[in-house]
Amino acid sequence: MLPVIALIGRPNVGKSTLFNQLTRSRDALVADFPGLTRDRQYGNGRVGDSPYLVVDTGGLVGGEEGLDSLMADQVWQAVDEADAVIFLLDARDGLNLSDEQIAERLRRSGKRAWLALNKSDGQDTDAIVADAYALGLGDPVPIAATQGHGVTSLINRVLADFPAHEEVEAEKRAHKGIRIAVVGRPNVGKSTLTNRMLGEERVLAYDQPGTTRDSIYIDFERDGEPYTLIDTAGVRRRSKVSETIEKFSVIKTLQAINDADVALLVLDAHAGEVTEQDATLAGHILESGTALVVTVNKWDGLDEDQRNWYRNQLDRRLPFLGFAERYFISALHGSGVGDLYKAVKTAHRSASIKVGTSELTQLLEKAVHDHQPPLVRGRRIKLRYAHQGGQYPPVIVIHGNQTSRLPHTYKRYLNNYFRSALKLVGTPIRFEFKTGD
Ligand code: GDP
Ligand code: GDP
Repeated sequence: MLPVIALIGRPNVGKSTLFNQLTRSRDALVADFPGLTRDRQYGNGRVGDSPYLVVDTGGLVGGEEGLDSLMADQVWQAVDEADAVIFLLDARDGLNLSDEQIAERLRRSGKRAWLALNKSDGQDTDAIVADAYALGLGDPVPIAATQGHGVTSLINRVLADFPAHEEVEAEKRAHKGIRIAVVGRPNVGKSTLTNRMLGEERVLAYDQPGTTRDSIYIDFERDGEPYTLIDTAGVRRRSKVSETIEKFSVIKTLQAINDADVALLVLDAHAGEVTEQDATLAGHILESGTALVVTVNKWDGLDEDQRNWYRNQLDRRLPFLGFAERYFISALHGSGVGDLYKAVKTAHRSASIKVGTSELTQLLEKAVHDHQPPLVRGRRIKLRYAHQGGQYPPVIVIHGNQTSRLPHTYKRYLNNYFRSALKLVGTPIRFEFKTGD
């Protein structure tokens, strides 16, 4: 499972700056998908082959009271849900009582914690390293988050405690079928849909969750084909143990998205609006590379005006999901639910497609022949060949000259061209441009 790392510390120690460094790839994504906003609290990052999830938290002052204590509770809840914590200290300010109080509580939590001595740029850190060591949380790692100094080495140390990427992948292959995550805000109908999807099928097995944060993996068959449903809504648990409905966990949802081949993003047509939380989840699905089927639930009991209004909402609030199919269903009555499997298979096939270099290069040549890239400073931008650089989502690497000057409109043209030629539905394409000059 994707390791979850929480960043904590006093206000102004550099948590947001470090968060941005650890989740840098998102800037490019936000630029590529107009209308997508950045989630300022949860972000995906990766070093080499190892992905992780970072949680930024509000600042702590230690010993909070009143309203502050409610906010502090949220920080400690994030700590509780995380697998590891990076506790930031400020090398310019030095340590103070707040740091000691936070350290004390962190020690008591028993969470694996790392000390990052931030703003160590241009500082003589010897004295403060000694003070930080005295907090009893191990050796502090000097970093400068603004420049990114020491950040890779810090994250490598943190990740060293977790299973390597290959082990995680091997474990994934133990489940044979397409992995589907049913995700969405509370009350959109995830458990109703999950029950509906499983109701008629042969359930082969499901895991017992280790902790309340874990999703349950349910293997089942439909028309003789294996699938695994990653249940974030706690359907099986709810029916088995008690009827208590668990609190919605963002982390559990984000891990399920990351772990799945295809996400069914469930939206609630009765709620009227597509909310910020819906858009944020959609952004996380994009970021993870998981394929997507937009599943608009509770389509029953709406008149034609309401339905048009909702369709319009989807266009306006989720304009960056143009690549995904939309299904309008009623989990309660079962209408449209069976069609989701076809969508899941199409999205899965698209996201995991493998295309040879010669085929991609021929497509590129045709695209360029139909519509030449523009001249820049009297020289035409040249696109020479293409190869595939990855899956989930498909990455197309294009080699040429002056590719850094390729206008946005031309990139959009290439996107549409490859999308339609390769019949990709339910996944974005990520382009990388390499230049020889
Ligand atoms: P947060 O409140 O903990 O999220 O802190 P921010 O990330 O907003 O940073 C607070 C201030 O410290 C900002 O002005 C940053 O530019 C500055 N800052 C963050 N990291 C560094 C660093 O590594 N070196 C220096 N010199 N300043 C930093
Ligand atoms: P979850 O929190 O996302 O798992 O949502 P639930 O599956 O618990 O559903 C929340 C509420 O919405 C329940 O009262 C369901 O009966 C209702 N609901 C779910 N699907 C539908 C649907 O397709 N149509 C209508 N009208 N109500 C639904």
